[in-house]
Amino acid sequence: MTSSRIAEQIVLASRPRGEPRPENFKMQQTPLPTLQPGQVLLQTLWLSLDPYMRGHMDDGGSYSPRVQLGEAMKGDTVSRVVESRHADLKVGDIVDGYNFWETFTVSNGTGLRKVDPDVAPISAALGVLGMPGQTAYTGLLNIGRPKEGETLVVAAASGPVGSLVGQIGKLHGCRVVGVAGGAEKCRYVTEELGFDIALDHLDTSLPEQLRCACPDGIDIYFENVGGHVWNAVFPLLNDFARIPVCGLVAHYSDVGPPDGPDRLVAFMRAVLTKRWTVQGFIVSDFDPQIEDFRRDVSAWLQAGKIKYRDDIVEGLANAPMAFIGLLKGRNFGKLLVRVSQ
Ligand code: NDP
Repeated sequence: MTSSRIAEQIVLASRPRGEPRPENFKMQQTPLPTLQPGQVLLQTLWLSLDPYMRGHMDDGGSYSPRVQLGEAMKGDTVSRVVESRHADLKVGDIVDGYNFWETFTVSNGTGLRKVDPDVAPISAALGVLGMPGQTAYTGLLNIGRPKEGETLVVAAASGPVGSLVGQIGKLHGCRVVGVAGGAEKCRYVTEELGFDIALDHLDTSLPEQLRCACPDGIDIYFENVGGHVWNAVFPLLNDFARIPVCGLVAHYSDVGPPDGPDRLVAFMRAVLTKRWTVQGFIVSDFDPQIEDFRRDVSAWLQAGKIKYRDDIVEGLANAPMAFIGLLKGRNFGKLLVRVSQ
């Protein structure tokens, strides 16, 4: 049974080969089903756009499940309950959850969590207090294991993961070097976030600049991008360096192996002789620590010890172009779509 209500949604129209393009997405209208007992109708207020969604568009090979052709794109949202037949959720509640790129969603409540608007603006549940924040906190503390006086390097340093990694590194007494795309992002990383140094990876002299910025080598490299940033970091990593492998956004649209010589043997030899810890992780690996993360990061936020920045796009129709831009570094801060007021 359907109600008279209509949701707008963005579906996967075709799978990209290489970088995604606008025609890979289609906006369409869909009738909403009549609410059944135990269900709620959610109005989407905020949609989070995240690099991992590129993997949803492919046929295989990613850690998160694909989106089928013609299906709505998936993502984390903050929503308002506008109708309820659910025992624990009432009209007006603000919730976050893993839903869809759409204006309204019918949910049975699974995975929804009430958002407390007194801790921070509700959109923070998708950034510093949400999945990207948890990624930074757990990846750095469990795998990076920062110690006072060590040198920590992080790329995508103005984004939601990298910005928090660097700020937590500072709270642990590290010397923090951020790598970001462009002068404005680099200025933000040092002047607003308090990193010691920021380097522009669009500058071809990055390897030389990084060497000068890290005279004692690199103890922790929080890997967010891969590509030419990794190439600049690799020769500078110290014995016993820790490398949390969080993301490889520079490669998400690759259609084959990179040009140039195979460097796998050189990498494995360095892992052996320099006794590096290289560990990939998915944020959910550390779900048992989610309460520690929420407690610590909420406290740091409220004490003014950490900052964050949102990049807000207005309207669901603009989500595809914003997502395409995210993979090219056009965002400046946590990329959010304001779906409704
Ligand atoms: P961001 O908002 O920081 O966006 C990605 C950024 O990556 C861009 O803004 C751009 O920043 C940078 N970038 C893109 N292409 C390149 C390139 N070719 N070379 C160098 N930098 C590039 O993203 P998030 O903070 O949300 O995510 C950061 C990383 O963490 C991603 O790889 C993501 O997939 C990963 N991640 C992993 C999780 C996990 O569970 N393992 C969970 C969440 C995120 P700039 O302009 O500064 O270069």
